[in-house]
Amino acid sequence: MLKGKTALVTGSTSGIGLGIATRFAAEGANLVLNGFGDAAEIEALRAKLAAQYKVTVTYDGADMLKPETIAAMVRKAIERFGAIDVLVNNAGIQHVAPVDEFPIDKWDAIIAINLSSAFHATRAALPAMKKKKWGRIVNIASAHALVASPFKSAYVAAKHGLAGFTKTVALEVAQQGITANAICPGYVRTPLVEKQIPDQAKARGISEEAVVRDVILAAQPTKQFVKVEEIADLAVFLCSEGAASITGAILSIDGGWTAG
Ligand code: NAD
Repeated sequence: MLKGKTALVTGSTSGIGLGIATRFAAEGANLVLNGFGDAAEIEALRAKLAAQYKVTVTYDGADMLKPETIAAMVRKAIERFGAIDVLVNNAGIQHVAPVDEFPIDKWDAIIAINLSSAFHATRAALPAMKKKKWGRIVNIASAHALVASPFKSAYVAAKHGLAGFTKTVALEVAQQGITANAICPGYVRTPLVEKQIPDQAKARGISEEAVVRDVILAAQPTKQFVKVEEIADLAVFLCSEGAASITGAILSIDGGWTAG
């Protein structure tokens, strides 16, 4: 379905981004991978995706904290592939602490990586999309773009901001064949969630098992983690012609969390 298209997925060395990038490659898209990790493992992943799906896969280690580096990554991808047809702003981090104890550097990093990086990448990618009169921007927000939870002030602020940014971009490019949407997953068992289990346990003074049962899955009426593959399926659909009229949408995939 995405044959001949190029997709850049930020934060695609792990978790949801990796799942989306893999699905895109399976659909025939060339890929620009991004994210941190062991250099040899990333190279092995790059080579495996290229060989398995017979697509071109490059890797750019741009740090989503750095606006100039983000713009340079997009520039290089456009030079290499002609355009970025699909931009997935996925990179994200989390930190859990009460507001009055929230480390200032963590606040700044979460706003930069989870919100501002989407602005910098979109800003740099849009001119080539406009020229082609086709583009898909998929922002990986969160149920926390719609509702809050205690101890996640920076994350909730960034994700609410990302939803607003998505809607604004959608309106600006609505007549140019470009859509912009936000996917809002509930809890997905990726390293990002694994890492916050001990922090939540500490902040709430309860055991890690209790965090999974009473905090994480308590929020999801299905009592199941959302699967990476389900998010990848939705991302692929948003990139299809059938989704041409879906734009500015804030799409929940959260096991009913935000229905309550
Ligand atoms: P993850 O930790 O598995 O992956 C995060 C990715 O972002 C990794 O590839 C990492 O290297 C990359 N990254 C982090 N900081 C970076 C930086 N400064 N520059 C470049 N890359 C950087 O996490 P995940 O759960 O797959 O999260 C992906 C996105 O999905 C995030 O935006 C997150 O907020 C969102 N999300 C996750 C969940 C969940 O439950 N896991 C739920 C809703 C939304």
